[in-house]
Amino acid sequence: MAEPILLDGKALATRIENRLIERVERIKQRTDGIIPILATILVGDDPASATYVRMKGNACSRVGMGSIQLKLDADIDTRTLLEEIDQLNDNPDVHGILLQHPVPPQIDERACFDRIALAKDVDGVTSQGFGKMAMGEFAYGSATPAGIMTLLHEYGIDIEGKHAVVVGRSAILGKPMAMMLLAANATVTICHSRTQDLPRLVRQADILVGAVGRPQFIRGEWIKDGAVVVDAGYHPGGIGDVELEAIRDRCSAWTPVPGGVGPMTIATLIAQTVDAAERHYEITA
Ligand code: NAP
Repeated sequence: MAEPILLDGKALATRIENRLIERVERIKQRTDGIIPILATILVGDDPASATYVRMKGNACSRVGMGSIQLKLDADIDTRTLLEEIDQLNDNPDVHGILLQHPVPPQIDERACFDRIALAKDVDGVTSQGFGKMAMGEFAYGSATPAGIMTLLHEYGIDIEGKHAVVVGRSAILGKPMAMMLLAANATVTICHSRTQDLPRLVRQADILVGAVGRPQFIRGEWIKDGAVVVDAGYHPGGIGDVELEAIRDRCSAWTPVPGGVGPMTIATLIAQTVDAAERHYEITA
């Protein structure tokens, strides 16, 4: 069997960022100094969410973009958050909006996601964007699965006709992941908490995506030799949703944790913001 391929998301994210620097510069030159701006909204003070938002802001700075970082109290209501989103939708300086998931339980997260203007939905969280993407029309893809697709394409992973098994069906990860793999002509199985005999289904995967949110929940012994293993999970201590140690010598390709899916999510978000700014100012290469 050929040597397993390390799907190095960190290295690819760096290459993507380097290309973005030039695109940001071009936008600046063609607009008399305007730079793409990503607005991030953090509700409450969950430390992990605060870290993710900070990392996204840092990535904006690295490519020469701007960011506006809104920090709202944990006890705000849905209406207040909707008003903040309306203001960002109306702000011509803002090209992309990210509402950090999850929001506190009293807030209707779906309503807030869906309030984001489609043209600024660079994190791909709106129902309309999902629907368009699923129908093969243009919309920004949900950042994590879109980043995974970029990673698979970059490394030349063959998707067409393969059996892809996605474990997890969340709105931001499992569901859009399944639709993107389907669009790439995989045969897709989506598994979730009520799935019966998960190991049997995982064993069938040519391409496996772990998006369960439980540390090393997907056991190495469930995974067949030669599978492509994408671990979208991230838990404290730098472990994912898949028992990677057990398969990395006998799979055909795998994403490390950290350094696989995580950096690609951020690179995708900022790339989609640059894209939104280019579309807004009708800038082409
Ligand atoms: P989530 O909203 O909690 O969804 C978890 C999914 O896993 C649900 O669909 C759930 O099924 C399913 N599930 C739970 N227990 C299961 C079981 N015993 N058997 C089969 N399926 C089960 O999580 P998420 O937001 O999609 O995130 C998933 C993972 O990805 C987490 O580890 C998270 O940290 C990571 N993540 C990483 C990034 C990144 O940028 N690297 C971004 C987002 C998320 P039900 O629908 O039936 O409840």
